[in-house]
Amino acid sequence: MDTSHSTAISELARIRGCLLGGAIGDALGAGIEFGSLASIRAKYGPAGVTDFVPYYGREVAVTDDTQMTLFTAEGLVWAAEADSDLVEGVWDAYLRWYRTQQTRGPSHDAVGLEALHSMHSLRAPGNTCISAVAGGRMGTPADPINNSKGCGAVMRVAPVAFVASSAEEAWDIGCRTGALTHGHRCGWSSAGALSVMIWQLRHGSTLDTAIRNGASVAATHDGGAEVVDWIDRAIELASRPIDGDLIDRFGAGWVGEEALAIAVACVLGIEDPEDAMLASVNHSGDSDSTGSIAGQLLGTAHGPDVFRSDWRERIELADILEDISLQLATVHARRRADD
Ligand SMILES: [Mg+2]
Repeated sequence: MDTSHSTAISELARIRGCLLGGAIGDALGAGIEFGSLASIRAKYGPAGVTDFVPYYGREVAVTDDTQMTLFTAEGLVWAAEADSDLVEGVWDAYLRWYRTQQTRGPSHDAVGLEALHSMHSLRAPGNTCISAVAGGRMGTPADPINNSKGCGAVMRVAPVAFVASSAEEAWDIGCRTGALTHGHRCGWSSAGALSVMIWQLRHGSTLDTAIRNGASVAATHDGGAEVVDWIDRAIELASRPIDGDLIDRFGAGWVGEEALAIAVACVLGIEDPEDAMLASVNHSGDSDSTGSIAGQLLGTAHGPDVFRSDWRERIELADILEDISLQLATVHARRRADD
């Protein structure tokens, strides 16, 4: 793949690529999230899934990963527009997300994403997120709400990179939005590290540089050591011929640091973007989350055209992904003008 023109990619294209890529990876993995590699191969052939497979009664279905990523973005946009605290804005958005999971349709006073019928759909939401938000208390890295290191924080964090004004701020906000629901350091530090990687890609870094910078920033902060170790392991894995068996021996992705590492290994180690996306989901672990993170990295690095055109056209929630991308780009442009 020719990546020499990556610096010419517009900010909006990177945002679109990030959100669209996340949704595509999420939908590729949705139908096989709870399947073993053996069962995936038995059902779909030796290559596993090679396209979207029906799930949730739809031909193409995203899951909670995409739903929560959209709410993260909306929370950041609204807080930035109001000049209020970004992390509190994301928390408010998760309260709205929570209501979409408790009701069949929007109430008359719902606004934003919460007012959309299509967001009121249960797509295997993570228990940690549901119980943390239901509890009503905002966790922080210093005052953890639980001991969860599930991947529910890292899989929804990417939009943070588009409002952060520095790699350090991307780390800080990424970790703090993660700790709202995930108290273990690996739960929120994996979110911080991905946020830094996406921030670097946004500024034209190659995938290799962005990923290494994610580890470098994490290494300078308390709580980051384990995620650094997993990123290093992912870089090593990327030098080998990656397939489902190799990923299964490496990790499953149910926890944040493993989900990030599997996605990193696939996008670093597999040159063809379609092959990288398919490898990121065809394993026994948390396929939709590893696919979502892989898609966010590839889409931010190269823009939306890196993905198969029929995947872009068929993805669920395409209109909402586009609308939120435009909102994020508008807020980003304003924040940059303010600097
Ligand atoms: Mg999911």
